[in-house]
Amino acid sequence: MSLTVKLTTPVTGAYQQPIGLFINNEWVEGVDKKKFDVINPSTEEVITSVCEATEKDVDLAVAAARKAFETSWKQVTPRQRSRFMIKLADLVENNLELLAAVESLDNGKSIAMAKGDVGAVAACIRYYGGWADKIEGKTIDIAPDMFHYTRPEPIGVCGQIIPWNFPLLMLSWKIGPALATGNTIVMKSAEQTPLSALVFANLVKEAGFPAGVFNLISGFGKVAGAAISSHMDIDKVAFTGSTIVGRTIMKAAASSNLKKVTLELGGKSPNIVFNDADIEQAISWVNFGIYFNHGQCCCAGTRIFVQEGIYDKFLDAFKKRAQQNKVGDPFAQDTFQGPQVSQLQYDRIMSYIKSGKEEGATVEVGGQRHGDKGYFIQPTIFSNVRPEMKIMQEEIFGPVCAIAKFKDEEEAIKLGNETTYGLAAAIHTKDLNTSIRVSNALKAGTVWVNCYNLLSHQLPFGGFKQSGIGRELGEAALAEYTQIKSVAVRLGGPLFG
Ligand code: NAD
Repeated sequence: MSLTVKLTTPVTGAYQQPIGLFINNEWVEGVDKKKFDVINPSTEEVITSVCEATEKDVDLAVAAARKAFETSWKQVTPRQRSRFMIKLADLVENNLELLAAVESLDNGKSIAMAKGDVGAVAACIRYYGGWADKIEGKTIDIAPDMFHYTRPEPIGVCGQIIPWNFPLLMLSWKIGPALATGNTIVMKSAEQTPLSALVFANLVKEAGFPAGVFNLISGFGKVAGAAISSHMDIDKVAFTGSTIVGRTIMKAAASSNLKKVTLELGGKSPNIVFNDADIEQAISWVNFGIYFNHGQCCCAGTRIFVQEGIYDKFLDAFKKRAQQNKVGDPFAQDTFQGPQVSQLQYDRIMSYIKSGKEEGATVEVGGQRHGDKGYFIQPTIFSNVRPEMKIMQEEIFGPVCAIAKFKDEEEAIKLGNETTYGLAAAIHTKDLNTSIRVSNALKAGTVWVNCYNLLSHQLPFGGFKQSGIGRELGEAALAEYTQIKSVAVRLGGPLFG
């Protein structure tokens, strides 16, 4: 059976799409020869079908990753690891148009945003390539007849389970620190969006990585994902996705081999606008904060709190701004918002909109399907909300936000922190003291001041409270993929002094 199919995008024309499982640098069909359909969210039509991994394929991928970890990858110097990674980053850049087009086709994000994502993927891999030969331990002076030092060593075989909202970007956040520190990988892409990672896997091979260092499987969470999190020969699992699945993964890790776990989970982030903010700027950032990537961001600014002095003026202008967001074909150059990723996500979001209406919130704009084909939803703003409403408590993961008033700084902090999540938050003010005081008081892993969603691969990202465990990005992520060995060397002399 051929493990590539010919597909077409409006940007690239025809291209060869791999559809197999990428194990040990080879394309394979999967032991049970299963396949599943990949749906175009803009048209609701089947794009193609790809091979589906079962537990047996996870076993094969883990065996390949284990062998590489214990043999070939161990022999590669940090300098050479760095070279492989930088070559891979270059290849991603050389194939930017193709990767971005596949991402738009499969995920529905606009081609402009997809290009931004792929540029960030290359930058992230290159950044961690730069770290690969800078992983250092310490010497610790304890006694004159002893020599003590620490060695940060790789953890081993890492299972990585990623979501569909930024398919390639989430892949790069995970493989960057894992490869830089000398681990090997079994990656599972999200079942909704397997295509771009499959194209990427060919580039890993082209960059020269030894077989088994990076293995990629397409498959479902309950089968392949569960097999990864409970596998006895996987040393660490890193996950991005829903809090509920994060809990399941942690339980599976605990009851199997107690593998190390990092989790990047959901959010219900507050976006706080003070009376003294630059209103025009604040509206742009609030709009971008919620509607970027169709609201499918773990850090989306879904709860908007505006100080009472400017509330009415702000709401009026924000409504106009939201209605200007161009919703439509991801391949049109001026599209800002494409479709939601799947029928399931579309239904979930529409049911939140229904619940907001039923609980008495007011729909200021949107609240409806956009068009009659594809999973498009109008940008939606709710007002007259109360903290206990479902739309104020739960992650909607769509283009839906709620706006409310606050009186003073104390109330803004209280409202901002009134959530079980703690991924991100933002403040808009011209007062430096306010911005620092409120940033310190907000219980969130990232706080933006006078901006939103500005992520950088140099800056750690992760959650307080139920938004996660551990950090991705920056130097902080390296610690999540290494374990410290302490070595104590006795230099001779009499025993016990
Ligand atoms: P999900 O958490 O079910 O899926 C994310 C990844 O986990 C996918 O690769 C999936 O196959 C895998 N997975 C699912 N069940 C698993 C299991 N039992 N064991 C191991 N892996 C498993 O997310 P979803 O169903 O696609 O979306 C549901 C909600 O999750 C969204 O509405 C949103 O609120 C949230 N979400 C958050 C993020 C984020 O970036 N934090 C990303 C996607 C979805």
